Amino acid sequence: KPQELKKQVANLKAAKGQKESHPPPPPSYVTEPPCRDRREGAVYEIRSCLGKGGFAICYEGKLNGTSKRYALKIVKSQMPAKMEQKFQTELQIHSKMRQQNIVQFYRAFAFENSTYLVLELCPNGSLMDMVKRRKGLTEPEVRFYTVQITGAIKYMHSKGIIHRDLKMGNIFLDRHMNAKIGDFGLAALLVTGKDMHTIRRTTLCGTPNYIAPEILEKGRKGHDHMVDIWSLGIIVFAMLTSKPPFQSTTTDEIYRRAKERDYDWPDAPGKYISREAKELVASMLQDAAERPDPDQIVQDNFFICGYMPTQADITTRLRELPPDSP
Ligand code: ADP
Repeated sequence: KPQELKKQVANLKAAKGQKESHPPPPPSYVTEPPCRDRREGAVYEIRSCLGKGGFAICYEGKLNGTSKRYALKIVKSQMPAKMEQKFQTELQIHSKMRQQNIVQFYRAFAFENSTYLVLELCPNGSLMDMVKRRKGLTEPEVRFYTVQITGAIKYMHSKGIIHRDLKMGNIFLDRHMNAKIGDFGLAALLVTGKDMHTIRRTTLCGTPNYIAPEILEKGRKGHDHMVDIWSLGIIVFAMLTSKPPFQSTTTDEIYRRAKERDYDWPDAPGKYISREAKELVASMLQDAAERPDPDQIVQDNFFICGYMPTQADITTRLRELPPDSP
C-alpha cells in the first residue's frame, strides 16, 4: 500500500538521520582548549567505547599526566533542532547537580566539531544490564538501590528539578557498584513562586502572560514532581522481577494497563517477594497526590523488614559476580 510505503520510507529516513547524528569516533588524543580554570588546557587519552545513546557516543578518557579516568560524552556541535534542545536542557540542569547518586558533571568543551562532556566514569554498565543479567535482584540489593535512587530524587526535587525520564537504562553503576542517575535530557525545572508552582521547560523562555491556566492549576496542586515517584515504583518492580509491570507489545496497551494498574507479581516457586515490597510498589503507583515523597519512602516498612546491605556487601559481592551468574 502506498501509505505504508510512505511510512516505511519516512522511518528509514528518520533512522538514517539518527545514525548520521552520532559524531564520528574521536582520535586517540583529545585536546581541551585552555580556559579560565585550566589555563594550560588538557589532553585526554581516549580508551574504550562505553556505549551509544540517541545522539551521543561515550568513551572512557584518561586525563594525561594523571591516573584520573572519566566518561567523555561526545555529541556533534551541529545537531537537529530537537536534539539541540534536549542537549541544552541536559547541560543546564546536569551541570548544576552535585549529589553522590547522580553522575558528576565536571566540564564541557568543544573539539573538532564536537562537544565533549566530561562526566564521572561509571564502568559497570547500567542497572538495566545488571538486572537483566541477574534476572532480578535480591530484596536486600533492592533495598540498597532504592535508598540510593530515592536520595538522588529527593535532592533533585529539592533543587526544583523533575527528572521525568527515570529508568533502569539511565541509572549507571560506578566502580563500587553504587547507582548514579545520568542523562538529564528530559528533565524540567519546576519554578516555584510565592504560592504557586509552574512547570517550565528551562529551554523555553515564556512570560507569565502566555502560560495556560491549566498549567498553573496543575502546578497549584504541586504534584508534577510525583512523576519521578511513579518511575521509581516501576524501577523497584523491575529490580525485583526483572520486567517492568505493564510490559506489552504496543505502547497503547502499556498506557492502558498503567492507567488501570493492571499488573501481577510473578508467583513462580523460588521467586518470593515480600508483602512489604509489594505494598511499597503499590503505594508509588497510586494517583499522584497519594504517592509517598522521598522521606516517606525511606521510612517504609520494606527497609526494616529484612537485611540492609552495607556498601562493602554490595561492592564485593556484585562486582565480583561473573557476568552470567544468577
Ligand atoms: P543519550 O543521551 O544519547 O541517550 P546516554 O547518556 O544514554 O546518551 O549515553 C549513551 C551510553 O553511553 C549509555 O547507554 C552508556 O552505555 C554510556 N554512558 C553514558 N554515561 C556514562 C557514564 N557516566 N559512565 C559510563 N558510561 C556512560
